[in-house]
Amino acid sequence: MSELRPFDSCGIMLSYRCQCGCRHCVYACGPRWKEWMDREQLEDLLLGISRTWENPRGLHLAGGEAFLNFDLLLFGVEKCRRLGLPIEYVETNAGWCVNEEVGREKFRLLKEAGLSSVLISVSPFHAETIPLKRTLTAIRLAEEIFGPANVIVYMSQFIELIARFDVERPVPLSRWIEAYGPEGAGRLFWQGYALIPGGRAGIELGDLAPQRHPAEAFKGHHCRREILLSRHCHFDPYENYIPLFCGGLSLGKIDRDLPGFVVRFRSEDLPLVNILVREGPYGLGRFAAENFGFRPNPRGYAGKCHLCVEVRRFLNEKGEFPELTPRAFYENLRSHLPPLKMGGGHAP
Ligand code: SF4
Ligand code: SF4
Repeated sequence: MSELRPFDSCGIMLSYRCQCGCRHCVYACGPRWKEWMDREQLEDLLLGISRTWENPRGLHLAGGEAFLNFDLLLFGVEKCRRLGLPIEYVETNAGWCVNEEVGREKFRLLKEAGLSSVLISVSPFHAETIPLKRTLTAIRLAEEIFGPANVIVYMSQFIELIARFDVERPVPLSRWIEAYGPEGAGRLFWQGYALIPGGRAGIELGDLAPQRHPAEAFKGHHCRREILLSRHCHFDPYENYIPLFCGGLSLGKIDRDLPGFVVRFRSEDLPLVNILVREGPYGLGRFAAENFGFRPNPRGYAGKCHLCVEVRRFLNEKGEFPELTPRAFYENLRSHLPPLKMGGGHAP
């Protein structure tokens, strides 16, 4: 029996490319990425999923921003329908929805291809590059075409807060800090959005976290559940099997044979994954300290995934580890957006 509990839900990342480059992105997506999954690869992956799944909950198609390659997205939806694969939703940041005509046409084509549900992102992080007006247009049109019950707005409570700043133009994150102060904005971001401190979040937004913990606080916090038992994973355009939301960490390349990959997987073949499964990021930090001179940040970390990403970023600079891929993830841990200014606050 496989050590890797077979997944029952997954996300397909058609690309890491995204016009937003949000500061909270756990996959460090953004405009600097160029490549997309090719059609043949996507078809093979979907076939592999259909052969691996026993009791599927569903998959989601995403990017980066999947609508930036709409023909590929449409192709993926059609293939899922032909293979009988349940799509939970297609995820979008709605930045492409510049007017009603464009939005209605794209949603209509997706519905005709077999899609029944979409997830539209809305948050202070997305609003930094996307005018709220576009998000609201996309929500309205998606509800018209798929029905309100089939449109997930993640997270709708931010609509009103963003609207207080501006509806027509993007709202830089620094305006939230000016308005609410670093502590108030930090609470809104970290607790209000329930940020996962992996990927870019800890690095870009860690200074605003309501609490930071020393590396020792994560001693004993292993990642067996997240890596081996969660039953949720992501597949990226480079054939990486990414456990749960662990951006930049690969359990290996599926090499167009997903059923075989799941059956053959052994964590002991991957030294860094093996440490994370047994000891979590504290153990990985110890390994990095003993072998390469890693020194934990005396200011602490916003969460265990923040520590993990910082240790992995350090190790990635020291050598080649097959699990630390794609390497461009580590080069994109800083957003292309300007550094955040701290200071403030009078609420809008
Ligand atoms: S979180 Fe932001 S940068 Fe990441 S994929 Fe979504 S919209 Fe793009
Ligand atoms: S600490 Fe690392 S391996 Fe563990 S869940 Fe977070 S990102 Fe994944």
